[in-house]
Amino acid sequence: MRTGRLWRGRLWAQFLLWKLREGWARLPIGVRFLWILIGVMLALMTPLLGMGYLLLRQSLAAHQQLVQRQRLVAAVSALDRQMATTLRQLEDYTVWNDAYEAVQRRDLAWLHDNIVDWLPQHFYYDFVAITDARGALAAHSGGDMAWLRQTAPFQRALRGVGDAGLWRHGDAIYVVAAAPIVDEDWSRPPAGVLILGRAVDAQFLQRVRESAGHTGALQVRTVGIDEARAGEQAHGGGGIEASQLLFDSAGRPVAALEVEPPRVEQSWLVDALRLARQHLLIFGGALALIASLTMVLLLQSHLRRFAVVIQRLASGDWNARVAYAARDEFGYLARAFNQMAQQLQTAFETQEQQHEEILAQKEELEQLYQQLQQAHQELATLNAELTEANRALAQAAVTDGLTGLKNHRAFQEALHSAVQMAERFQQPLALIMLDLDHFKQFNDTFGHPAGDELLRQAAQVLRESARIYDVAARYGGEEFALLLPNTTLAQAIQVAERLRQQIRAIENPHASISASLGVATYRHGSPPATLVYEADAALYRAKRNGRNQVCVYQPEAA
Ligand code: GH3
Ligand code: MG
Ligand code: MG
Repeated sequence: MRTGRLWRGRLWAQFLLWKLREGWARLPIGVRFLWILIGVMLALMTPLLGMGYLLLRQSLAAHQQLVQRQRLVAAVSALDRQMATTLRQLEDYTVWNDAYEAVQRRDLAWLHDNIVDWLPQHFYYDFVAITDARGALAAHSGGDMAWLRQTAPFQRALRGVGDAGLWRHGDAIYVVAAAPIVDEDWSRPPAGVLILGRAVDAQFLQRVRESAGHTGALQVRTVGIDEARAGEQAHGGGGIEASQLLFDSAGRPVAALEVEPPRVEQSWLVDALRLARQHLLIFGGALALIASLTMVLLLQSHLRRFAVVIQRLASGDWNARVAYAARDEFGYLARAFNQMAQQLQTAFETQEQQHEEILAQKEELEQLYQQLQQAHQELATLNAELTEANRALAQAAVTDGLTGLKNHRAFQEALHSAVQMAERFQQPLALIMLDLDHFKQFNDTFGHPAGDELLRQAAQVLRESARIYDVAARYGGEEFALLLPNTTLAQAIQVAERLRQQIRAIENPHASISASLGVATYRHGSPPATLVYEADAALYRAKRNGRNQVCVYQPEAA
């Protein structure tokens, strides 16, 4: 039961603490700053003000005591002066020849007129009495004579010495003065005694106060011996603090003179206020300084938080955020800043991702490019091979496989071109047709391969004798053609003859051989086939004429 209540109490305390913290966090920074300022002010000012107040009160009390004491001392001395004055006044009437003689004569009328009745009227004495030298009453204005006779001043005056002092009668205190009545020469013994007295009442005290020179009220209180002793003991023999014991002429305490404590002086208040104002100014200045410093430090610390996070962001730490939970202006700023940082982070990460994707794509493209390069190279190689093959094919298409000379088709094309050229430039064009003699027989005798070899030898002869623009071709079987552009018939005959001889001179391991040649020249305007026909006709004639010779085409012979 007890632990349950304790636990609940603690829970409540924690909840309250949490609430306070939450409330504090929600306060705007300015309001928080004001609260802190007020707290600091209170913390600083309260003890100082308290201390100042205590000091002020103490010093005021001390001053009051001092003033009271001074007033008391002044009042006591004023009282003494009053008594001395009374004694002097008394002596004006005791040292007087007329009064002396009146007592001697027992002239009561004179004594009443000039002293006993006169003095109370003019000096406010409560009683005046005159006795003879033995102390027997002569004249008096009233008062308790039995009591007067006991007083010390009276007793001393009887013995010839004037005296004044306080004396108590019941609850009242009197100033009693008594002096012997003597003549003005002091030549005779005293005739009697003059006694007068007056009550220490408010009026009397007023005079004492005026004589003391202050306005504090005075009071005389009768005290017993016991009270006086107690007072002496309590104050270490220094008397009652704000009062002074008064003694009668016999040395017994009769009363206490009391002085009213002085009122708080206005100058003290003014001084205190000035002091307070000075303190307030100093502390106000100090507080303003502390407040400004606090504000500056507070702002600096907040700004430093932001600066640190900005630096982290700038150095690439995108997770950096400003931690500031309060819901004040800085809180709003921090949230906006964090939002911005978040957006930056997202944008940066997206960009990074895109960058990586682009890099990956670039790598892929580079691979593709390399593959393409490779394919291109392979294609180029293939193309070169193809070109080479084409070239070889084209070559093969116009070349005779066995001899390497132009084949029949190439010869035909060359013939057409040569005819066109001859036509355009009106140049001569000759054709030599050559056929090996009895080649069938050679073949049959030495074999086909030997025949082939011979064909190649004959082709070599043709090739060597042909000029750069001449065309040597294997026309078919063992028949060859040599087309000679820009060549006259005579020149062609010379060439043919040389050819015949060279063929004849071929060194063959099996047998030597000869050839028959027909020469014809192009007639402008005729078809190209005519030239071939005519050269062939000339060749036929050379065969017919016995072979191993050159024949020129003759139209009539054809
Ligand atoms: P002629 O003097 O009248 O010309 O007699 P010939 O034997 O040469 O007669 P013909 O022109 O009829 O014979 C040609 C022979 O040439 C027939 C063939 O055996 C031979 N021949 C043709 N082409 C080739 C060839 O490519 N290689 C070889 N070895 N022989 C060939
Ligand atoms: Mg033939
Ligand atoms: Mg032949």
